[in-house]
Amino acid sequence: MVKGGMRWKSIAIFASAGIFTACLLPFALSAQPKELRVFISVDMEGITGVVNGAQLGPGDFEYEKFRRLMTAETNACIDGAFAAGATKITVSDSHGNGLSILPEELNPKVRLIRSWPRPLEMMEGVDAGYDAAILLGYHASINTPNAVRAHTMSSKRFFDMRLAGKHASEAMLSAGIAGHYGVPVVLVSGDDKAVDEIQKTIDKKIVGVVVKRALGYHSADNLSPAVARARITAATKEALLNLGTFKPFTLPKPLQLEITFKNMLNAEILAFLPIVERIDGATIRFTGKDIIEVMRFISFISQYSNAD
Ligand SMILES: [Zn+2]
Repeated sequence: MVKGGMRWKSIAIFASAGIFTACLLPFALSAQPKELRVFISVDMEGITGVVNGAQLGPGDFEYEKFRRLMTAETNACIDGAFAAGATKITVSDSHGNGLSILPEELNPKVRLIRSWPRPLEMMEGVDAGYDAAILLGYHASINTPNAVRAHTMSSKRFFDMRLAGKHASEAMLSAGIAGHYGVPVVLVSGDDKAVDEIQKTIDKKIVGVVVKRALGYHSADNLSPAVARARITAATKEALLNLGTFKPFTLPKPLQLEITFKNMLNAEILAFLPIVERIDGATIRFTGKDIIEVMRFISFISQYSNAD
């Protein structure tokens, strides 16, 4: 009786454990994300080794070499994303003419967005269908001293840009667009000043990969490209495996944008429009219903404002 009682009790325990496990199984399976869709926006100023204009545009002394290195850093990020289980990756070529990444050297499993104009600029193509965003090779805003090529959108056109009264970086615009669609930025790479500015102004939890220590606007102490790539792959994998810890960055709605131009004639002409307010000689204000409307406005004036 005792033994038999024990046996039945054991069977009952095993049976209830089995039912319990069977009940939990669907939850366990549903907790595993079926898809991991990653949007990678790639700029060039924050790639290791990039220090001045000689690396940054067609015809410049080292541009062709640094297109290859930019593409290789992008591939390193893609490797990390696939290692974390990415099922879809889109890359946005977000520098200069939007044609710097070499398509034939890019991982063939990803899609590549190229060239301008595009309304959402460095984040064109992102939407609620993505689970994570990565800002690779980004640089600091014009308000950060001693950072490599620090500017916001255009070093020729804009002296300053503010969103809801705060100095804006390109990373803030990109993170705000991703956040509009509920997509968190999980990783940034660039120089130490850019990474620090992004973590302080957007979210300190964003994983930062510092590929160079900025010594000034046109100088940096750089990691070897191979070392930078290894760090980017490892950090991307780690960040995406911890996707649940990141939150989308959101900007106020409606959103007030202020731009101070280097050439005040731009402010004068834009103020002809009833949607634009001129708040001092070189500064205009525009209020959009959200970051998408504001970004479309910035994109328009990036194309049509005067740099001289
Ligand atoms: Zn750039």
